[in-house]
Amino acid sequence: MAFSSLGLNHTLVTTATGLGYREPTDIQTRAIPALLEGRDVLAIAQTGSGKTAAFALPIIQLLAERESDVQKQVRALVLVPTRELAEQVAGSIIRYSEGLDLVSLAVYGGVNIRNQVRALERGVDVLVATPGRLWDLISHFGLSLDGVRHLVLDEADRMLDMGFAPDISRIRTRLGEHQSALFSASFAEKEQQLAARWLRTPLTIEA
Ligand code: AMP
Repeated sequence: MAFSSLGLNHTLVTTATGLGYREPTDIQTRAIPALLEGRDVLAIAQTGSGKTAAFALPIIQLLAERESDVQKQVRALVLVPTRELAEQVAGSIIRYSEGLDLVSLAVYGGVNIRNQVRALERGVDVLVATPGRLWDLISHFGLSLDGVRHLVLDEADRMLDMGFAPDISRIRTRLGEHQSALFSASFAEKEQQLAARWLRTPLTIEA
């Protein structure tokens, strides 16, 4: 299997091969075409499976294909459990979108919120966020997520263990009509219940 047979455009195939990715991982092979088609995806995947590129590459392609209605509105949202993962995922998205006119930002708690508000005001396409800080930005600083068309819940099991389910539920009510992808290392009953509530006939992938 080659990256070029998954429906990714030439720019992104060149980026992936330029990063030394010789062929897609199992989860990438299955998730990328489904996300490009606009389907919801539920993936049971561990760190190291290549899950970040599995959601980031197709979402970057969909964003780059479409002009944003409002300049630099948040159009893709990735929710993650920790600050470290937020920085790591945003860093990967920045590498994957090199040469494209997309701005990505990580926001998380424990640091000055006003700097994050200013960065958001300058315009962001892809926002990577921890749920608690994101809810603060929405409820106290008027951040609008109306323009979000793609939602990723990364390491959903850890977010649930950390008690983020209520924040995630509240955040979801603020999004526009959107595609969802849920990535989780485990898939116990609580993850299954949320997946049933939050996803529309997803393609289920066990990597
Ligand atoms: P992740 O599971 O997203 O944390 O990715 C784990 C590591 O695998 C990261 O260092 C990625 O850069 C790398 N990676 C992702 N996709 C591929 C691929 N198709 N081939 C080789 N390495 C990859």
